[in-house]
Amino acid sequence: MAEKIVILGAGESGIGAALLAQSKNFNVFVSDINLIKENYKNILIKNHIDFEEGKHSLDKILKADLIIKSPGISNDSDVVKAIKEKGIKIVSEIEFAYKYTNAFIIAITGSNGKTTTTHITYTILKKAGLNVGVAGNIGNSFALSVLQNNYDYYVLEVSSFQLEDIFSFKPNIAIILNITQNHLNRYNYNFNEYVKAKFNIIKNQTSNDYLIYCKDDKTITTYLNNNKIQSSLIPFSLTEKLDIGGFVENDKLVVKLNKKIFTMYINELLLEGKHNQYNTLAASITAKLCDIRNQFIRDALSGITSLEHRMERVMKIKGVEFVNDSKATSVNATWYALEYFKPPIIWIAGGQDKGNDYSILYELIEKKVKAIICLGKDNSRLINALKKFNKPIYETKSMEEAVRIAYKISSPGDTVLLSPACASFDLFENFEDRGRRFKKAVRDI
Ligand code: ADP
Repeated sequence: MAEKIVILGAGESGIGAALLAQSKNFNVFVSDINLIKENYKNILIKNHIDFEEGKHSLDKILKADLIIKSPGISNDSDVVKAIKEKGIKIVSEIEFAYKYTNAFIIAITGSNGKTTTTHITYTILKKAGLNVGVAGNIGNSFALSVLQNNYDYYVLEVSSFQLEDIFSFKPNIAIILNITQNHLNRYNYNFNEYVKAKFNIIKNQTSNDYLIYCKDDKTITTYLNNNKIQSSLIPFSLTEKLDIGGFVENDKLVVKLNKKIFTMYINELLLEGKHNQYNTLAASITAKLCDIRNQFIRDALSGITSLEHRMERVMKIKGVEFVNDSKATSVNATWYALEYFKPPIIWIAGGQDKGNDYSILYELIEKKVKAIICLGKDNSRLINALKKFNKPIYETKSMEEAVRIAYKISSPGDTVLLSPACASFDLFENFEDRGRRFKKAVRDI
């Protein structure tokens, strides 16, 4: 009889895993505690895959030989506890999909910059003519892509959640961009657990594989110093020159890997901000490791603009620039936006506060922010943290109101920056919805 696979969660990765598992002749059952989105449900029905929604039937789930757990499901949930008690193996979707491809794998993680760096890396490899796919958190799931394509290279965006249940997944190149306090609710408010989950990305690597990492990030370097690492290490930094790795020298990005050298003037990049120099260095190191010629890297980099909702310049109205950085759902991401734009900045911030520590922003707020517009259901934590600055603070409960006030108090030369430092779920569906509503409100001025 076919082996039974139960898939927990019927989102992008669960559906991809279900289709891949079915194609490999497993007996598949999908279980989602919430209602399944219509388009995903239709895929399951069309493919005759057995499923349930709105519940987890343990009698069925516990009969599985293998469980594939979607990244959104916490290890603390009752269903996972029951599965563990029964001793059934749980794997993540990337672990499962990995078994069915022989592609060269580049996997990118970090607290911020994953999507951007994945996009840059993919664009360079594609430009160079490689048979390359992109998957993970960005676009299609890895499993679906493995089922539908036959790529030689994969660029994967992987979150810490996707790295939780891996056993054999071994990227040829791993990138850790940065590690800052994020998603701690999933890690019992234990930062070390979150750090460990991120470093799962290299747990199966050998000295033939590479870890590209940010040397300016203390959390990363401390971990590397205190643990035995098999991977070949390649650092990048904006604060020091390196014998091997990526760095900045005389306004140029430099990648040096023994005899392979790549350089490019920073002002030739369309991607703005220091964080994008980090992201570009990581992607360029990867490209050199893949033996991509400098011309292709340069061509690709000089054409890449910011992704939607990530320091995206919307438009200028009477000399006032409007920037949509709705994807900045953490204080750290917002730091890079406040650091980059010229003052005076009218800053629209707030939303669902995950216990933020705003203190790293204080210096930039003092120096560059002209007024703060809070946009959230409950703005009290933000206001408490920022009231000492003696800058005008406005409380708003809708995007339209926030944009209207921002425009009213602006003068030519100002930047109105939506960079919330908070999640969006209090007033919006998600960060995309928040960003789109911002852009609409700006266009409607
Ligand atoms: P992720 O996929 O990790 O959430 P994104 O590329 O979508 O990352 O960017 C999320 C937010 O973080 C945006 O506001 C972006 O401007 C900012 N950001 C991008 N790269 C970095 C980085 N290397 N360090 C800090 N912030 C970054």
